[in-house]
Amino acid sequence: MVHEIVIVGGGFGGARIAKILSKWSGGSRHHINITLIDKSRYHTFYPNLYEVATAHIPEIFGHLPLDFFNLKSSAVYPLEDIFLDDLNVSVLEGEVVGVDFKKNKVRLKNSPALSYDILVLAAGSETNYFNIAGMGQNALPLKVFFDALEVRNAIDEAFFRVPKNHIVKIAIGGGGFTGCELAGELIGYMKKLARVHGRPEYYGECMIIEAAENLLGGASPSLQKKAKARLEKLGVKFKFKSPIHGVEGQEVILENGSKIPYDVLVWTAGVKANDLTKSFFGVKLEKNSCVAADKTLRVLPYENVFGVGDITYCVDEATGKVLPMTASVAIREAKYVAENIKRIILKKPLINYKPHQAGFIIPLGGKYALLESHGIRLSGFLPWIVKQMITLHYWATLVGWIKAFRLWKSGLETYLEND
Ligand SMILES: Cc1cc2nc3c(=O)[nH]c(=O)nc-3n(C[C@H](O)[C@H](O)[C@H](O)COP(=O)(O)OP(=O)(O)OC[C@H]3O[C@@H](n4cnc5c(N)ncnc54)[C@H](O)[C@@H]3O)c2cc1C
Repeated sequence: MVHEIVIVGGGFGGARIAKILSKWSGGSRHHINITLIDKSRYHTFYPNLYEVATAHIPEIFGHLPLDFFNLKSSAVYPLEDIFLDDLNVSVLEGEVVGVDFKKNKVRLKNSPALSYDILVLAAGSETNYFNIAGMGQNALPLKVFFDALEVRNAIDEAFFRVPKNHIVKIAIGGGGFTGCELAGELIGYMKKLARVHGRPEYYGECMIIEAAENLLGGASPSLQKKAKARLEKLGVKFKFKSPIHGVEGQEVILENGSKIPYDVLVWTAGVKANDLTKSFFGVKLEKNSCVAADKTLRVLPYENVFGVGDITYCVDEATGKVLPMTASVAIREAKYVAENIKRIILKKPLINYKPHQAGFIIPLGGKYALLESHGIRLSGFLPWIVKQMITLHYWATLVGWIKAFRLWKSGLETYLEND
């Protein structure tokens, strides 16, 4: 019997499920066809986007295109290439605009609808501006590869635009993981730019504007303190307890009425489930429009539909906390969903998803990172190396060690330009 499995989204969750299932034979009685649909041709490695947004590329004639190629391949990789040798996986570039859960059909923007026996919703998240007036219009998000390029170019452009005797002001809305990673690396990038544009190094300013009283909400107080100390040492400025009311022209307006001028504003403070979820008829939506899933990660009330990653609302029963939107959660969920898909096909009972706290590694400028995992706390070069090894291993599980090593090495060469 042939089972048609459709996966919407080729990110951390969707690509992992397709990869696991591509290796599954299913025995002589079962054959699976997997269609992986993504609106982009590329799989994005988001943890490297802060590096793309701050990559200094020396402008030597003939040098630029190669470095841009390296920059791109370090963060995005063609989905088709990831599944080149997997005969039962077809990659379809297309935008899903809705699902008819009763007729088991996925509707696409510019192609005919696609039928499925089992569907996986893995379309990820998008930037949440929390309806802050002027934020969507004025701030740059950091969510997809092209956002990262835009941030990079906007900062470069600001060093051209702002008069030489003025300080170039970069404001980052949100002191979470993405905001802190970006700020740490930005300092090196701005110093390079200052030199290239003939300004003193200290004529660039990077400020994190944070609503809470600490950085890295959700992390331990010790990690929060260390991150602040590290960023302070690099020269990053902070505004804590400063919820943003709006953005007007070149000024961020805080709720207390004070104004912060900026030349480039980057918004890293919020994500919500992909807007696609709002079109799902009969599916219960939870906080941030995430789809509600049962313990087996099936999207209620449909028994042949699973949710994985950022799009899914999942509570860790042990802690009572909602699982964060992270790659490690998406990958772990993907392993359970792949297993449950096999079990549906084999008519076996499904297994319940068991969350696991993987911990954090946060790079903060140059070859320095903070690590916190299972009671272990490290800072400095070693955690940075651990992050590099995790990145290399991640790519290897998708494209094999040889290609992974090449991608990782070329990315590293480009990123280290800042240090
Ligand atoms: C800048 C940044 C840095 C991050 N750093 C880390 C980190 O260091 N560690 C960590 O654990 N997590 C990190 N995260 C979070 C992590 O990237 C996400 O939690 C993870 O990508 C979620 O996986 P996913 O499969 O749910 O979604 P994604 O990986 O986002 O994949 C969703 C896919 O769906 C596709 N898609 C969307 N809409 C449609 C549609 N309508 N039709 C077809 N396809 C569609 C998208 O193109 C995308 O490829 C970071 C996120 C960002 C933005």
